[in-house]
Amino acid sequence: MTTEMTLTQARAALAQRKISARELTTAHLAAIENAKVLNAFITLTAERALAMADASDARLKRGEGGLLEGAPLAIKDLFCTQGVRTTAGSKILDGFTPPYESTVSAKLWQAGAVMLGKANLDEFAMGSSNMTSAYGPVINPWKAKSGPAKGRDLVPGGSSGGSASAVAARLALGATGTDTGGSIRQPAAFCGITGIKPTYGRCSRWGIVAFASSLDQAGAFARTVEDTALLLRAMAGHDPKDSTSAAIPVPDYAAGLNGGVKGLRVGIPKEYRVDGMPEAIDKLWVKGAEWLKAGGAEIVEVSLPHTKYALPCYYIVAPAEASSNLARYDGVRFGLRVPADDLIGQYEATRAAGFGREVKRRILIGTYVLSAGYYDAYYLQAQKVRARIAEDFTKAYERCDVILTPTAPSAAFAIGDQLDDPIAMYLNDVFTVPASLAGLPGISVPAGLDAHGLPLGLQLLGRAFDETTVLRAAKALEDAAAFTHRPEPLP
Ligand code: GLN
Repeated sequence: MTTEMTLTQARAALAQRKISARELTTAHLAAIENAKVLNAFITLTAERALAMADASDARLKRGEGGLLEGAPLAIKDLFCTQGVRTTAGSKILDGFTPPYESTVSAKLWQAGAVMLGKANLDEFAMGSSNMTSAYGPVINPWKAKSGPAKGRDLVPGGSSGGSASAVAARLALGATGTDTGGSIRQPAAFCGITGIKPTYGRCSRWGIVAFASSLDQAGAFARTVEDTALLLRAMAGHDPKDSTSAAIPVPDYAAGLNGGVKGLRVGIPKEYRVDGMPEAIDKLWVKGAEWLKAGGAEIVEVSLPHTKYALPCYYIVAPAEASSNLARYDGVRFGLRVPADDLIGQYEATRAAGFGREVKRRILIGTYVLSAGYYDAYYLQAQKVRARIAEDFTKAYERCDVILTPTAPSAAFAIGDQLDDPIAMYLNDVFTVPASLAGLPGISVPAGLDAHGLPLGLQLLGRAFDETTVLRAAKALEDAAAFTHRPEPLP
């Protein structure tokens, strides 16, 4: 059996008993084995996967089964999984096996999904290339057909790079991700798949290793909008264990998917035109608007005037929260411990050995912007800017229902590039970060190729808790783009 089916196709085949969950899982485990070079997984859970698949087959046989019954998925290794090593891509969690299951992954298992393993990621989800993982970079299954990156391995984007690479390479039907400033949408764009970050509060953060708590949000990757809608429905919902999770019912996202965009007002933010962006991205953006217009949508220009402050604001708020969240890794309670003569020495030795460069950089920046004397100038100021950015969206949504932008300012780049220049790396998030700061939902849909044959994504943003409209517009975009390109299968 191949692993070419979409989640929706696999569900139908499983329900009709044309295939078994065990066969489907076995095929995916074999594909993973064959794709070891991609380094998409940190931990494989083959035995558990087969046991879960057998349990699914038993339920399917009885005519039972949940929304995702028998569907093999990859779980970003930022979600705590009971009894399965969880690393957050960091050496500092060496040997950590959580005694609990994250709410989101627990919901997936309740819906019948099968866990293939834990997907690689940037260390503590800090990055845009998956190059900061202590477990090595992930490779994007796509290759450039020409240009400077031809013949080189490309990044899958980040931080959820393992999840995106696995779904693009047909190693999993879908995957979880988390998005703090773009970590679902940007890797989805780089890998030619779909990725949704729902509204902040839509999915529980309980049991997800924290990076920046006011921004972190779980979401899903899949190869179609419909599959993404299914995954999100299973993952989302109120959780009393997360005080920021919203007590708002979760709609059946897949139900209204084919409703089209007739009468929908699509906003084009003029501030999202950045200098030096490849022409192919600009053109695709224009084309995206034309496609939606042809479907009956009304295109309106909108203004998000504080966009240019979003990146600096994010790179104050996120490191500030990270520096506080990461204080818990002291060598006493979790993971790695490097012994020293006294307690302070042990903290220092453990943190020096356990954290990578990017994580240390963020802790330093975060501690600095929160320190007495600089707090007002940086952190407080950033909070005010964040409120302005959120207001921009509120005003824009008086004139439109969704906003269309490119997902990222470039296609996937070669492994090793941009790593020595953190600012260039941070620019990857220029189009994704504003919605994160405002807590709004966003999706990336593969819509075209660049001049070198690499996938490009378009992003749709929506109103808070209106993932339904975002997904419906995304489906229209997907249908119009008819993106059937795919990476070359691995030998
Ligand atoms: N690339 C961004 C960062 O490095 C976003 C990461 C994320 O969304 N987790 O912070």
